[in-house]
Amino acid sequence: MEKIHCTAIVLAAGNGKRMGTKVHKQYLELEGKPVLYYSLNAFENADCIDEIILVTGVGEEEYCKKEIVEKYKLQKVAKIVTGGKERYHSVFHGLSRVERSDYIFIHDGARPFITVEMIERVYEEVKSSKACVMGMPVKDTVKIADEKGYVESTPPRSKVWIVQTPQVFETKLIKEAYSRLMKCENLPITDDAMVVEEMLHYPIKFVEGSYRNIKITTPEDLLVAKAFLK
Ligand code: C5P
Repeated sequence: MEKIHCTAIVLAAGNGKRMGTKVHKQYLELEGKPVLYYSLNAFENADCIDEIILVTGVGEEEYCKKEIVEKYKLQKVAKIVTGGKERYHSVFHGLSRVERSDYIFIHDGARPFITVEMIERVYEEVKSSKACVMGMPVKDTVKIADEKGYVESTPPRSKVWIVQTPQVFETKLIKEAYSRLMKCENLPITDDAMVVEEMLHYPIKFVEGSYRNIKITTPEDLLVAKAFLK
């Protein structure tokens, strides 16, 4: 039987406006190493991953190559690609550079606490379900607000999950979903599963991640991340 080939697309082309720092959030340091290093290193060390495509901001390609990929000897990073305006543009740029692959893992570079064990867990699931998202059941009650700021409804807590990455898909499926998306205009897309939901209506399986798999978005997250590392 031929080996299953897996590609990880790691996204680092965001501008980190909500962090309020000059340095983009994925390059901020935790224990002396950039946030992005931790994300890439987990995929580097996962046996199921064959290659990594790193998507960075315009003009950040050389920095990533020298200061992250070469410095930390990340040998699976096969391509460094320039991202786009929205997250889904960046994913599309990464996807367009995938040559041969059975499954694609899409991961936010700003989630440094992804582990090899979590990557393997989602890999085992995607082989049967073809489309998976990592997430966790919510701890708080979630309410839906209307445009005027009033409560519209309260979904049953047992059915609500927070969504994380990696989100993992059979290559054919995710490429088809994104190629259809690119023909649409101004859709409020915030994750990859949503593209598959909206474009293909394909069932997507949840895989438990970890409450530690946070996205470094605001300064508070950095404090939490430092505490996790200690
Ligand atoms: O903006 P958000 O927090 O949703 O970003 C999630 C991830 O997507 C981050 O790792 C960020 O660098 C990446 N991103 C990207 N291209 C964009 C916007 C975000 O690669 N245009």
